[in-house]
Order: sequence, then structure tokens, then C-alpha cells
Amino acid sequence: MSTLEQFRQQTRAWLEANCPDSQRQPIVKEEQIWGGRRRTFPSADAKLWFERMRDRGWTAPEWPSEYGGGGLNPEQAQILQEEMQALGCRPPLYEIGLWMFGPALLKFGTEAQKAEHIPKIVRGEIRWSQGYSEPAAGSDLAGLKTRAEDKGDHFLVNGTKIWTTQADKADWIFCLVRTDPNAPKQEGISFLLIDMETRGVSTSPIQLISGESEFCQTFFDDVVVPKENLVGEFNQGWTVAKELLKHERKLMSIMGAMAEREEEDLRHLAKRYIGVDEQGKIRDPILRDRVTRHLMQSGADALTNKRLYQLLEQGQAEPNLPLIMKYVSTTEVQRKDELLLAILGNRGLSWHDDEFSDGEKRTVQNWAYNKAHTIAGGTSEIQLNIIAKRVLQLPG
Ligand SMILES: Cc1cc2nc3c(=O)[nH]c(=O)nc-3n(C[C@H](O)[C@H](O)[C@H](O)COP(=O)(O)OP(=O)(O)OC[C@H]3O[C@@H](n4cnc5c(N)ncnc54)[C@H](O)[C@@H]3O)c2cc1C
Repeated sequence: MSTLEQFRQQTRAWLEANCPDSQRQPIVKEEQIWGGRRRTFPSADAKLWFERMRDRGWTAPEWPSEYGGGGLNPEQAQILQEEMQALGCRPPLYEIGLWMFGPALLKFGTEAQKAEHIPKIVRGEIRWSQGYSEPAAGSDLAGLKTRAEDKGDHFLVNGTKIWTTQADKADWIFCLVRTDPNAPKQEGISFLLIDMETRGVSTSPIQLISGESEFCQTFFDDVVVPKENLVGEFNQGWTVAKELLKHERKLMSIMGAMAEREEEDLRHLAKRYIGVDEQGKIRDPILRDRVTRHLMQSGADALTNKRLYQLLEQGQAEPNLPLIMKYVSTTEVQRKDELLLAILGNRGLSWHDDEFSDGEKRTVQNWAYNKAHTIAGGTSEIQLNIIAKRVLQLPG
């Protein structure tokens, strides 16, 4: 038996023995475990599952074991993911630090920065937020104005960030700040880490169309930041920023695949709300056609993503290709939301009325919330611009 096959068998046996039954149900938003100083658990089982995975380093399977990660190679990590999916195991931890900041810090951080922050991310002890966008700098991110002045032994930060996801719940924020206002836009930016408890940092939540309030405007008024919180070179934060965005877009490109289990719900829902013909097929041929198209597209996306990331790991793919997957995958998620609403018919008209079931309300809320996917992490228009320029090398 090959070593990888052996690893698969051991992994499957461990997951079967250690993942409580309740943690093998599809995850709902309210039961996600987010890291942080104020971390809470929805149930004893959820806590147990989180702790078992954390102790194996499997909250961050591919990160080096010296910082508490799992130390798995890409093939082993893929096997772990497949086995978790096969058993329906819930992800043990949700964290921006895990998905975006950690990989960039592992690449650009000093030894001291890695030793300080990486183990806390793996162990779900610190929650991070992302301070990139500003009221006048979203797509044109390099136009950002939040200023960090070099005061000798510290930086003094003034300005504001916007759309900062969960900044009101975060412990730390990684920020892009302007450190040289006279340099060309991308060359006068640095990457700073700021403890949200520092004097002068405040947040103001913004309500979303779905009724949730997931993000904030974040203000910095004369915030003193130690020099050792600079990641990468002074004025070279754009390089760190781009590395981090790669991971954010990778995360968003696999959203369709992450929702794989929901695809079954789609079929059931269609049969329940639309009814079936004598052969057991969805009765309405147009909706049947749309459901089939969506299932084929999302299946193809999941396979393409898998192939693409294997090629990227081996350095055999053009590094901007994940942008195509981010664009395709987020567009398909929205197509599916439209399809779900069409299936629900009148039952998909509201989420405020008691007459509607929780599932129906969630479907409509997701339809509203998922509009954000083609904006967050860079809008679809911007992805298409970059694909045209960098991947297809089309003239400007
Ligand atoms: C749910 C959600 C969570 C987010 N979380 C965070 C976070 O945690 N931290 C953070 O820093 N930011 C976050 N963002 C912000 C996100 O990165 C920005 O919204 C995004 O980059 C777009 O910027 P903007 O909103 O300023 O839109 P704008 O840049 O003002 O764009 C407005 C419209 O113009 C179009 N447009 C702009 N420039 C061009 C161009 N050159 N060519 C063609 N079309 C163009 C855009 O595509 C868009 O349709 C989040 C956003 C969302 C929706």
C-alpha cells in the first residue's frame, strides 16, 4: 500500500472515531466557530471537535508544525479535505487569519512575527480583520490615504477603513497604510498590524441588505503602532497585499465547491416545490433544464478548481488563473440563488413573515447576501480587467 493510501486510511479512521455525529451535519452560519479572545462555542460537541482538530494542527493542515500547524504536504492536505467531505465533517474553525493573513505572514513575516501570531491563529485564539478598502479606495486600492507617520520608535496612524468584515468582533487588524505620500501610488504603502484594543481605534457597524451587519467602518485617530508591527519592507506593503489577495481570491473561487452538499438540497427543493412527473423528474422542463445546467456547471467548476490548484502547487499554472475561477464561481453562486428563488415562487418573497419556514427565509437572505460575492475581494469587472490584461495579454 502506498504511503498516501495509508495516510488516507488512518485519516478516515481518526475522523470516524473523533468527529461527533452532530458535527457531521451541514454547517449553518450560527454554528460556525470563529477564533478570537471572545470565542464561544454553540455546543459541547462543537467545542470537542474544534479542540481535537486544533490539537492535531488540522485547523491549519498545511502550516508548519513548529507553529502548531498540521505540517501536511499538499497531497495529504487534499486527502484530509476529501475524507472530511466524504464524512460531512464541519470545518473546525473559521478565521480570516487562517484563510488570508497567515499564508502571507508565513511568507513575509519575521521569525518573531510568525512565532507571535501564527500559533494563535491555528489555535483560534485571535480573530483578524482586513483593513484594505477606504471610502475612496476600493477597486483603486492603491489610492488609499490612511496615513502612518514614522515617529522614530513608532508609527502614528490616522485615517479610516471601510467594509472591514467583523472589525467590531476582531482582536487585530492588518492594514495597508500610506507611509510615503510623495512616492508613486503603489510604492508608498506599508503593511501594518494593529491591535484593535489600541487607544484611538474605533468601529461603526454597517447594515447589509440581508439585515445582517457583518462589516464596519473603522477609524484610526492618532493610533500609536510599534515599529515591530511592520510586515515586509517599509514602503513595500503592496507586495504583501498582493500575496494576501491571492489567498482571498482562492478562498472565494472555491465557494461554489464548498456548497457542494447544498446541491442535493437544490434537487430536493425543486421536487418538493415544483412537483415531479411520472418518471420522478422535476415537472417543469424549463426549471429542470436550469437545475441540470447549474449542477453540471458547479460540478465542472469544482473539478477545474481542483486541477488548477494542483497545477499551481507544482508551479505549472499561470498565477492569475484563480481570478477566472473567482469570477466564474461567484457568478454561478448568484445564478443558483436566482434559481432557488424561482423554485420557491411566492414562498421566496420575504424573510420577514412568520408564515415562511426558517429554510425559506435563509434561502432568500442568502440571495440578498450573496450579491456581495461579486464585489468582495475585488469586483467582477476588476477581475475581468486583470484577466484580459495579465492572463489573455489583450491590449489596454
Ligand atoms: C461582503 C463584503 C466584505 C468585504 N470585506 C472587506 C474587508 O474585510 N476588508 C476590506 O478592506 N474590504 C472589504 N470589502 C470591500 C471590497 O474589497 C470592495 O467593496 C471592493 O474592492 C470594491 O470597492 P468599492 O466598494 O469601493 O467599489 P468601487 O471601486 O467604487 O466600484 C464601484 C463600481 O465600479 C466598478 N469599477 C470600478 N473601477 C472600475 C474599472 N477600472 N473598470 C471597470 N469597472 C470599474 C466596480 O466594478 C463596481 O461595480 C468587502 C466588500 C464586501 C461586499
